[in-house]
Parts: sequence; C-alpha cells; structure tokens
Amino acid sequence: MQTGLGFVTKNSKFASLILKAVSKTFWFITVGLLITLAGLWLFQNYFYSVKETTPITIDAPHIYELESVIVPAASADQVWTKSFKVKYGDSFHKIMSRLNLSVDKIRKLNNEILNVYDLDDFVYGLDYKVNYNHDFTPQSMVFEIDPLHHLQVNFITEHALIIEKETIREDLMIISPIMSSLVNTVTIHGAPEKLADLILSALAWKVDFRNLLKADSLKVIYEALIYDSQVVEIEKVKSIHFKHNERWFYAYGYDIGNGWEYFNESGKNLSHAPLVFDRITSLYAQKRFHPVRRRWKAHYGMDFEAEEGTPVESILDGVITRVRYDRANGNNVKIRHSKTLTTQYLHFSKIAISLAVGDSVKRGDVIGYVGSTGWSSGPHLCLRVWHNGYQKDPLQFDFPRRDDVPEELKEAFQKQVIDYDSLLK
Ligand SMILES: [Zn+2]
Repeated sequence: MQTGLGFVTKNSKFASLILKAVSKTFWFITVGLLITLAGLWLFQNYFYSVKETTPITIDAPHIYELESVIVPAASADQVWTKSFKVKYGDSFHKIMSRLNLSVDKIRKLNNEILNVYDLDDFVYGLDYKVNYNHDFTPQSMVFEIDPLHHLQVNFITEHALIIEKETIREDLMIISPIMSSLVNTVTIHGAPEKLADLILSALAWKVDFRNLLKADSLKVIYEALIYDSQVVEIEKVKSIHFKHNERWFYAYGYDIGNGWEYFNESGKNLSHAPLVFDRITSLYAQKRFHPVRRRWKAHYGMDFEAEEGTPVESILDGVITRVRYDRANGNNVKIRHSKTLTTQYLHFSKIAISLAVGDSVKRGDVIGYVGSTGWSSGPHLCLRVWHNGYQKDPLQFDFPRRDDVPEELKEAFQKQVIDYDSLLK
C-alpha cells in the first residue's frame, strides 16, 4: 500500500506538480486573455469615440443687429392722402363706387356736385386726391379744377363746394437772354407759358417773334398770383424791355379806360388790332395744329383771345361784302376796303344789329362781338386779310393804331414809365 501509496504519493506529487503547472498556465492564459479583451475593448471604444468626436469646424454665425424700426400705430387724427387722375370713362359715380361709399351717399353727393360744378370741366387726366382717416375710411376728395379752384367733396358732411385758393399777388421780374424760344425763356424762369403770349401780344407789331435771334434779350415785370411758391396765374404784364436785332423795344401796360393795353415809352398804343384783346393766341402761319379739328392745318389769320361780347371794330373804312353764319367760320363779316384789300372777322357771338351787305362802315364802327361760333375752342376773334386775292399776314399791313394815352393821363403814365425803367435798366 505504502508503495502503492508511495507510488501514489510519488504520482500524487507529480500530478500536483502538473496540476500546479497547468493551473499556472491557465492563470496566465486567462489573465492574458482578459487583458487582451480589455485592451481590445478599450481600443475599440477609444477608436469609435475618436471617430464620433472628430471636430467639424463651423464658422461662428454673424448676427446682424437690425436697427429697430418703429411703426407707430396711427393716431386717431392721422390722415392719409392718395393722388389719382381721372381716367377715360370715369364719372363721379364710378370714382365714389371705387371708394366703397354707400349707394345712398353716392346719389346724394352726385346731386351736391352737380349744383356747384360744371361737368364740362370734368375731363380725362384731371388730378384729384382722396383723404382717408386713420383706418383708411375715405373722408373727402379734392379735384384740381384749375390752378386757382378746387372742388371739395366731403363724404362725412355730404357736401360739395368750390374752394378758391388763397393766392398772393406779387410783381415779379425776369431779366434774361432769349434761350431757344420765348416760351422756354419764361418757363425756365418759373413763369407760365402765358407770359410768352402776353409779351408777344404787347410787341407783335414791333418785334418779329417768329424769327428771334440768339442775341435777343428780355426784361419784364409782371403781376403774378402765387400759391404755394408757384406762379399760378398772370394778371398782367406791367413793363417789357425787349432787345431784338440789336434794337430795344419798350412796352408799358396801362388802362386809359378801355381795359389793359400796352403803350410805348411816349404813350403811343402798340396795338393795331380791331379790338381790345387779352392776348394773341395765334399768328398767321402756313402750318399749325388746330385745337378743335386736332390736325395740322394752315392758319391764314391772326387770333385774338378776348372776353365773349367784346366789341370788334372795322379796321379801316369800307363796304360790307358778307354777313353770314357758316359751319367753320361761325358768324362772320367781310369788308372791302379798296380794290385790292379785304378783311374778314370770324366766330362772332353776334353780328352788329342791322349790318347788311352793301353797308358802308367807318374805321372804328362796331361790326360784331367776340364769340366762339364755328370751329373755335373758346371766345376769340380770328382776323383775316386778303390782298390781291391772297390771304396775307395781318401784321404786314400798317393798320391804324388804337387810342394813345390821352393828354390828361400822360403825367401819371410817364411817372409809371420812370418807375419801371428804374427797375429794369
Ligand atoms: Zn384763327
């Protein structure tokens, strides 16, 4: 047994040695394996974590700081105004319908407007403004009828009225060389085109306005109506110094009892027309635009704008050869002054009573009254002159001057001449 045991003991010792070795190896392997696994785990985690946190560079956003815009709420008394122009086919009814006014209100306002306003003045392109309250409810509208008059329609009180602008009357002066045309010269200096007409009207018998020269120049004093720093109307021209073709011509406005007329420095009337007129609106021309017929047409006369009813006189002694109405010329009269010279007067509102063909007339006899009959765009006289059967420019003939400043007014007139000259010279 001992042996066996010894053997066993011997064997047991050996076995325990093996076991020891095996367990040592096993320990080493296990620990090594664990370390390897831990390393792998660590490595893997480290690897992925690195991958996941790779930094992506993003530029820092630039923040724009907006300036604060404060839109205040409209106060209760805020008024908004919008500008419009009358369109083709417009009526007051249509305009008010577009503003969403009630049918009742529109009907009432339409009647109000018709009471104060001439619908002939309601034309395409007319400017008007609509005033709204703070919440855009239309309150009123204002039409600019002409530079001096407004039509105001109040939607709240349901009234329409014409308002005349409050203007300032002032004497204005222009001193300027002629720039391309007379009209251009006055408008560049802020005056309406009408001033050019009035200058031409005063000096038409002295200066050839169809052939102005580069060296010509103008000095003028005129009475203007001013609204909102703009000249809206010219009342009259007071004094003109006009240099044409190296020579100075003078005109002074004065009323010797026949209305506003123009005289030279010594009181001689500058007009050779058969009436006292407001302005010459057209000269004799081979070609001009006809405002009524709306096409280019020769104009073989000279047009004088004047108030309806202004008396028109025979320009020379003569015999009446025509008294009649026709479609183009309206009421018109023709007078033969000599074998070679005949004059004709067009568009009369009425012809002088009892005037008949064959009657003799003296220079200055009233033959008719300014009107707008026939093809005419407003009250004016069209004067035509025939010489040897051809229509000629009335300015080519030396018709008699209108009345000069009478003796009793000479002193007052001369005083004015001196006053204006001191401003213009
Ligand atoms: Zn004419």
